[in-house]
Amino acid sequence: MLPRRHHELPPTAGLPLRFADLRPGAATLAADIAAQLCVPPLQLECSGTASLLIALTALRELQPQRRRVVVPAYTCPLVAIAVQQAGLELQLCDLRASHYDMDPAALRAACDERTLAIVPTHLGGRVAAVDDALAVANNVGAYVIEDAAQALGARRAGVSVGLAGDIGFFSLAAGKGLSIYEGGLLLARDPKLQEQLARTAARIVPHSLGWEWKRSIELLGYAALYRPRGLRLAYGNPLRRALRHGDPVAAVGDDFPLTIPLHRVGRWRQAVGAHAATRLPAFLDQLSAQAQRRLPRLRLIDGIEVLDDPDGAHGSWPFLLLMLPDQQRRDAALAQLWSSGLGVSRLFIHALPDYAYLAGVVPAQHVPNARDFAARSLSISNSLWMTDEDFETICRALEAVLA
Ligand SMILES: *Cc1c(COP(=O)(O)O)cnc(C)c1O
Repeated sequence: MLPRRHHELPPTAGLPLRFADLRPGAATLAADIAAQLCVPPLQLECSGTASLLIALTALRELQPQRRRVVVPAYTCPLVAIAVQQAGLELQLCDLRASHYDMDPAALRAACDERTLAIVPTHLGGRVAAVDDALAVANNVGAYVIEDAAQALGARRAGVSVGLAGDIGFFSLAAGKGLSIYEGGLLLARDPKLQEQLARTAARIVPHSLGWEWKRSIELLGYAALYRPRGLRLAYGNPLRRALRHGDPVAAVGDDFPLTIPLHRVGRWRQAVGAHAATRLPAFLDQLSAQAQRRLPRLRLIDGIEVLDDPDGAHGSWPFLLLMLPDQQRRDAALAQLWSSGLGVSRLFIHALPDYAYLAGVVPAQHVPNARDFAARSLSISNSLWMTDEDFETICRALEAVLA
C-alpha cells in the first residue's frame, strides 16, 4: 500500500465553498443555474432522488395504466429506491459491454406498452446515448427521464444534457459538484410538463423545519471540512474504517436509507448555492481542462480503457472513470490506492441486483455486463487539489499492477 498522505483528496471534484458564500442573500439558485446552462426554468428540490420521485409521480398521473420504469442495471441505488417509493415497477436493463450506456438491444427488449419511463444515465459526467432511449420510447409511447445527477454542466451539441429527453434532473448533493449538501434540479423542455412537475411538487412536498435545520447544519459542516485537511476527518478516516471492516458498500456511501425525505429547500441554503454558483462556469472549465490534460497520460498505460464522451459531446469531469482488464488487477490497484488519500475509489460497488439491502426493492436479474462494469471499473478524482505529482503517483501504481 502507498504511504498515506497528510492531506486527503476527495473522490470527486466538488466546488469548494468559501466563508463568504455563507452570508444571507437572494434565493436565486435555480434561476442562476438555468441562466448559466441556457435551459428553461429549473425546479429546485431537496435532492436528486426527490426530483426523480416527483418526476415519476407526475408521469404516473399522466399515464396511469403504465407502471414500469427502465433503468441501467449499474446506477445509483437511490434510483431504485425512488422507483419503489413512487409505487412503480423497476425494470433493469443491462449495459453495453465495457460501457456505461444501456445495451440498445436489451433496451428494446425491456420496453413495451407497459413502460412508463426510460432513464438513460450520464454516469460520472459522461454523456449517455439518449437518442437510443428516445427511439425506443417513441416506439412504445414511453417518456425519457435523463439522469444527469452527476453531470451538471455536461453538453451535447452545445446544449445542456437533460433537454433531449422529456425530463432531466441534476443533483446538488455533497460530492457531486455544486452542493447545498442535498438538493436537486428538475428540468423539462415542454412548458406543460414543467407545470405538471410544479403542481406535483406543490402537492406532495411539505415544508419541514426539522429537515431544513438538519441540512443547514450539514451544509455548515461541509463548508468547514471540504478542504484537504478536513476531508481526512470527514471522508478518509470513515472510508478506511469501513474498508478495514470489509464493508465496501459503506466505504463509498452506497448504503442509503430506503425512504426518501421530501421537503422544501429553505432560502438560506439557496442563497449559499447562488453565491457559490457564480464560480461554477469557471470551475467546470478548469475541471474539463485538467481532465483533457490527464486523459492522454492514462491512455498510455497498456490495459486501461478510459471512458470518454461520444463525438460532439462535452461531459463534466468530477472524476476519471477507468476499466481495468479484469477484477483481479482492478482489486490489486485498489489495494495500493484506495486507502492512500489520493482520491482513487470506486463508483457504485455492485450492479443493482447485488446489494443485499435492496433485496426487497430490486428484482433478481441476469445482468452480466453491469456486473462486469462493477468488477473492473475504478475512479480517479479530478479534484483541482490533485497535483500533477499525485496523478503521476497514481499512474505509476497502475502501471506496476498492469506490468
Ligand atoms: C447521486 C445520484 C442520484 C441521486 O441524487 P441525490 O441528489 O444524491 O439524491 C441519482 N442518480 C445518480 C446516477 C446518482 O449518482
